[in-house]
Amino acid sequence: MPIVRVALPVPLPQLFDYSSQDACGEDVGRCVRVPFGRGEKSGVIVALPAESDVDPARLKAVRHIQREVAPLPRDWLELVAFVARYYHAPLGEVIALALPPGLRRADAVSDRESDPLLDLSVDGHAALAEARRASRALALLGELRAAGVIRRSAARELPAGAALGDAMKRGWIVAVRGADPAMPAANRPELTDEQRAAVEAVSAGPEGFAPWLLQGVTGSGKTEVYLRLAERALAAGRQVLMLVPEIALTPQLESRVANRFPAACVVSLHSALAEGARSRGFVQALEGRADIVLGTRLSVFAPLPRLGLILVDEEHDASYKQQEGVRYSARDVAVWRAHQRKVPVVLGSATPSLESWQHARLARYRSLRLDARALASTLPTVRRIDARRLKLDEGLSPQLKTAIGERLARGEQSLVFLNRRGYAPVLSCPACGWVSQCPHCSANLVVHLADRRLRCHHCGCDTEVPHHCPVCSNQDIQPFGRGTQRVEARLVELFPEARVLRVDRDSARTRNQWESLLAQIASGEADILVGTQMMAKGHDFPQLTLVGVIGADASLHAADFRAPERLFQQLMQVGGRAGRAHLPGEVLIQTEYPDHPLYRCLVKHDFDAFAASALDERRAAGFPPFTFQAMLRADAPMLDDAMQFLAHARRLAQEMAPAGVRVFDAVPMRLTRLARRERAQLLVEADERAPLQGFIGAWIEVLRAQRTPRDLRWQLDVDPLEV
Ligand code: ADP
Ligand code: ZN
Ligand code: ZN
Repeated sequence: MPIVRVALPVPLPQLFDYSSQDACGEDVGRCVRVPFGRGEKSGVIVALPAESDVDPARLKAVRHIQREVAPLPRDWLELVAFVARYYHAPLGEVIALALPPGLRRADAVSDRESDPLLDLSVDGHAALAEARRASRALALLGELRAAGVIRRSAARELPAGAALGDAMKRGWIVAVRGADPAMPAANRPELTDEQRAAVEAVSAGPEGFAPWLLQGVTGSGKTEVYLRLAERALAAGRQVLMLVPEIALTPQLESRVANRFPAACVVSLHSALAEGARSRGFVQALEGRADIVLGTRLSVFAPLPRLGLILVDEEHDASYKQQEGVRYSARDVAVWRAHQRKVPVVLGSATPSLESWQHARLARYRSLRLDARALASTLPTVRRIDARRLKLDEGLSPQLKTAIGERLARGEQSLVFLNRRGYAPVLSCPACGWVSQCPHCSANLVVHLADRRLRCHHCGCDTEVPHHCPVCSNQDIQPFGRGTQRVEARLVELFPEARVLRVDRDSARTRNQWESLLAQIASGEADILVGTQMMAKGHDFPQLTLVGVIGADASLHAADFRAPERLFQQLMQVGGRAGRAHLPGEVLIQTEYPDHPLYRCLVKHDFDAFAASALDERRAAGFPPFTFQAMLRADAPMLDDAMQFLAHARRLAQEMAPAGVRVFDAVPMRLTRLARRERAQLLVEADERAPLQGFIGAWIEVLRAQRTPRDLRWQLDVDPLEV
């Protein structure tokens, strides 16, 4: 009987053999359900070995092979194998992460019908020509004629889309075949010279793998470059993979892509999708029916038989790195995948990661630049407000208040940027010194006055705001410091005639809430916005002309060596929201360190100067990208257990580490206690990637064989972002 070798989602790096009566070579890459322990698990067949280490008589039989769906292709199996190898994660867990849950369970994929292309029929044209009485169906015909051939899902979104069923029943609208997915909508803009040069450069670039860094200031029209490159790939009959940092934050991009390519099959893939939709999109990609796959980091695992181009928008964004389970970087995996499939990959950002910027400087990546804005004539003016001798009013300087007042008078929008949500970061008692600490974490409970709660932003713990100090019963307990809610409250008092809107994780908890906030801002229903970094990403608000930054200094002196890079990126991104259309923009940064080099570079919009000096500091200090790192983390209810495990791991490491691999001391993590678990970490580092990788492979095998306390967990993080 044939033997099948299966990768299963278990925390062990091994594969499992089963027997199957009818398995054949074609089944490699197919999802299966198999008996496991007393239950059942699902996984993927990775090989049909001739023999097994297990006695054939003892092999259990597979329960079900999913044959309705095409098998995962060989290059996909290589991709997950690479991720497993590089991040030292069990293959079965990588596969479990990469596959939509419904598919992995080898469920039937319920709705396999695709999203057909629609057009007016002869009758439809006739009905429209002789239309006597206006009707919803006729209105839809008019809209459809203007749009050209269109996907059914897009037709439903048209203003008269509700009449679609009716119009189809009358035979006025029919499904058509053979429309060109690369055919763009008629209203695409003329490229600027810089954009054209970028598109031409990539098109004229080498055949096969080529990594590009598209460094374009905010509003320079990077998206337009992506769309033109996608158009060329589609015209060549290829599929396009487009990664975005957070799809919940980018519904605008989704509709922009769908509107540009009305005849293309555009598939979104992200974790917020319903299971059925995610499986369907994945299968459309796998079977080559999807033309464009647009998604968050996990879409880097979409199988794409006709792949021709990979685009990574906002490539510096930390959300490309998964911080739990398999700790992979979708950006780095995307570059590997482009190499594997011999296609170009374009990493775009106004503020590239220092890693990518360094690759471009060393010509490992090819450089593309967009230094001018596409629509607005200039970049916003950035000014520093020296806050050292100012009396601030709930964090607001007189200059900032005046500037907001001016915008209000002109009917323009302002944004106050403060990257801290809630009312105040802590509640405290001036009499006895009590502070609102999270009972489960080494962090404070944040005051949320809007709904009178104290919340931990790390573990989600949530209690009522007490009426008096729990220790000394003092009734005069005070919120200390400030967050977005407090600034919002003060702005409402200061500008009673203004409509103040807060935009943070609390006011935009769901995608619907977020979209309705965006719509409110776009339609001018808000005058003053108070927002966190949610406001920083990729949105166009034509009426927004002022960005005031408060409370940024805290990140200047953070212990994390990446903090300045993140701060610069955030401020440049959020400042880039100002004056994107035809109104000039202004950015005011309140700071007690107006001469800090970071702010000086920001005033000049000089990312390159900032990046060069930040890299010099990293070289001097021996930080990435000049070294390669991996972090072993452990957590347990008792800190001692975590530290002891790491100390033991350190001794093992020192015994086996080759020259050039440095093993540091185990230390408690900065946020030591999280959700009742104490956390510690151990850094290993090398100047070259290969020896580090080789060492980790051997080390982790030894670690897996160690006996550890039952309630201790440990994980390895390769190329960690947080150290
Ligand atoms: P980025 O992603 O670089 O910040 P976008 O792609 O969002 O910039 O473009 C900024 C604005 O400029 C958008 O409103 C976009 O529609 C517009 N735009 C981009 N390219 C052009 C062009 N060639 N002609 C006219 N408008 C453009
Ligand atoms: Zn007290
Ligand atoms: Zn907590």
